[in-house]
Amino acid sequence: MKEEFLHFVWRTQSFSQLPLTTTDGNVVQVEYAGFLNRHAGPDFMDARVQIGDVLWCGPVELHLKSSDWLLHGHTGDPRYDNVILHVVYEMDQQVPVNVPTLELKNYIIPGQWETVQQWKNIQDHIPCGGNFGDLRSVVRINWINRMAVERLEKRVSEWRSRSSELNGDLLQLFYEKFFRAFGFGLNGELFENVATRFTFRNSLRLIDEPELLKAVLLQMFGFETARSKAVVWKKASALIEANQWNALAPQALNTGKIRPRRNNKVRIEQLADELPQISLWWNMIFNKAEMKEWKLELYKKGRMNPLFAHLAVNVFAPLLFFLHERKMDESYAERALELLELVPLEDNRITRLWKIHDVVGTNALESQGLIHLYGMYCEPRKCLNCALGAEKLKRNEFYEVLI
Ligand code: SF4
Repeated sequence: MKEEFLHFVWRTQSFSQLPLTTTDGNVVQVEYAGFLNRHAGPDFMDARVQIGDVLWCGPVELHLKSSDWLLHGHTGDPRYDNVILHVVYEMDQQVPVNVPTLELKNYIIPGQWETVQQWKNIQDHIPCGGNFGDLRSVVRINWINRMAVERLEKRVSEWRSRSSELNGDLLQLFYEKFFRAFGFGLNGELFENVATRFTFRNSLRLIDEPELLKAVLLQMFGFETARSKAVVWKKASALIEANQWNALAPQALNTGKIRPRRNNKVRIEQLADELPQISLWWNMIFNKAEMKEWKLELYKKGRMNPLFAHLAVNVFAPLLFFLHERKMDESYAERALELLELVPLEDNRITRLWKIHDVVGTNALESQGLIHLYGMYCEPRKCLNCALGAEKLKRNEFYEVLI
């Protein structure tokens, strides 16, 4: 048994029987289990618990054994003075003397801890087995949406420090992330790096000369080809040298398995082709364009544009979410989620993995949620913090998911 599991039992109020009673025989009714305190001090704060006839509001502390209260040095620590309930797996000593104790040993649902252990040790990508068809759809949908929002929050927190380095120049930030998206996972860093040397303002100067822009970009990424003799190629070299834009060394880009050099070159040419659109997309983001406008961009010429879908998921929606934080305007966040809902489900290694486990979706909000769930919860085996895991562990009528 681990304290982490007791936290789960308390947080989700998942008990084998009710009512709960303290070790001195008072009935315990939990109105609110409290919120998990991730800082120093008691484990749960602001709980509302009726003990006997009195409704108490305040912190709850959890331990495997009641004597851990002494072991952890809580006696005399003022942060623990207001603890209303001491929840323990096993009472081996009456401490602290003035705080009611709830012993959970007899309220644990049989098999629940063993199942959690199995999930921790099993060699499967999704150890709980996926297949959430039997779970309440409200839990499934809410959790996957929440995962998508967590993913956006994670991205935004990564963007925050770069934004301060740029003194809040959001256009340059957007431009760098735009470049990064063309490098995909393999070369994202290097693409972003080039955007810091050949900046948005530099590219604006060349926007009306597409061939020159393409030549500059190819050279910035270290490409040398037979076209190097062409006039435009020489002009690009001269510009890079005069402005000290510092091109990457030849072969600097990481190579994939299939025709790597060619793939990289194609992506840079695509980037050069799309750059003239960047101001249009910036305006659509900044002015919170309606979904019908985004739809026109996504389905240009009647077919879904996969490159646009990739940019929408990895650059446009995160930037909308970033603006929501920056401008404290909730409608940007709503637009970010709507945009993800507009884009079809992504097809990649992780979404295919979920498919094997009978978890499918229809849009990128769901695929982003599933990617986050897999990377941040399934892989590190954080099943006790996962609402779907909690729902699967459901065993009796008293149980409610309160995560
Ligand atoms: S984290 Fe959730 S979805 Fe992933 S394996 Fe654990 S319980 Fe299942």
